[in-house]
Amino acid sequence: MFATPDWSAARKALARWYRQAQRDLPWRRTAEPYPVWVSEVMLQQTRVAAALPYYQRFLERFPTVEALAAAPEQDLLAAWSGLGYYSRARNMQKAARQVVAQGGFPRGFAELRALAGIGDYTAAAIASICFGLPHAVLDGNVIRVLARLLADPGDTGSTRTRRRLAAAAQEFLDCHSPAAHNQALMELGALVCLPRQPDCPRCPLRPHCSAHAEGRVLEFPVKLRKQEKVEVALNVLLVERAGKLLLWQRPAGEGRMAGFWELPSDSALPGAIVHEELRRFRHTITHHHHTVCVFRASIARAPRGFVWVARPRVDKLPLSTIARKALGDAP
Ligand code: SF4
Repeated sequence: MFATPDWSAARKALARWYRQAQRDLPWRRTAEPYPVWVSEVMLQQTRVAAALPYYQRFLERFPTVEALAAAPEQDLLAAWSGLGYYSRARNMQKAARQVVAQGGFPRGFAELRALAGIGDYTAAAIASICFGLPHAVLDGNVIRVLARLLADPGDTGSTRTRRRLAAAAQEFLDCHSPAAHNQALMELGALVCLPRQPDCPRCPLRPHCSAHAEGRVLEFPVKLRKQEKVEVALNVLLVERAGKLLLWQRPAGEGRMAGFWELPSDSALPGAIVHEELRRFRHTITHHHHTVCVFRASIARAPRGFVWVARPRVDKLPLSTIARKALGDAP
């Protein structure tokens, strides 16, 4: 590992850069915990551009934490459908009910951390952005920037390295301006210190960066344990009749996907007549890489377990992300 950066000088350089480079994003125009929380959960799994329409629709549908707490689960899943990681949406509703029962959002890190589904990252984000508390965030972007700044040789999948980077993030934190500092560091990771093509010449932290000084930027962060990819081929059928679409619903007991609606697969509809291919796309869920082919198909009679759903109703159902992409309306 190279020398410890001059944190004070790096802090100032980062703050200067953020003042002129930050993107104008709707969740940055508020310090209210509810919209900040919604944005943080969405951004853990989705790029900013893809999250924007979901964020806006979600807040229109559930404008307050009370509205989220009281929402029927099917409405909640429908609003989340296309974003994946549905346990996060369910946990958000559990946490919303805890918040309502407590009479509002707790204002301390430990109390935020005790809410359903809120881990260190989200608790630190809400505590710093909404309440000005000095808690550093550590997400994938921050890990990458810090691992490079320090040329840290540790495997970022290991708890030990994470603890070391969390301590460095805390040391780097501007305790007078934790909200701006945390967001600046994440913004730098999102816009400049990119995984494969970091733009070092434009980086305000370049004078403090060990990986850059050593000419070893792409060696960091170190990731040793890579899970093997599993390739899955899937054919789904778009069967329409008189303005209705053939769907099936995953039953209770199917874990995180229970209650979601799907298009039929070709193997589930052996009697279908398959026509032309409509589209083809890739979809990744953790280490499973799906190649999905969507075919138009027709069928004389829908077998048991399938339902004809009027097209305008389909948009209001919680569809799985694969079903939504197959219909052409998910990123
Ligand atoms: S100098 Fe390059 S590697 Fe170092 S923090 Fe900046 S963008 Fe990342």
